[in-house]
Amino acid sequence: MAVPFRRTSTTKKNKRRTHFKLQVPGMTACPNCGEMKLAHRVCKNCGTYKGKEVVSK
Ligand SMILES: [Zn+2]
Repeated sequence: MAVPFRRTSTTKKNKRRTHFKLQVPGMTACPNCGEMKLAHRVCKNCGTYKGKEVVSK
């Protein structure tokens, strides 16, 4: 098995980790009720998707 020849320096390690970040899920306002909802998901509040009711309460 290949083994690293040199240990990764703190600078190199930290530079690699600049891409590690927390991401906020894409949220949009529901066109039917105005509640914030996850994009491309049925609205939790009113049960609609693309202006049609798909889940009854
Ligand atoms: Zn809604």
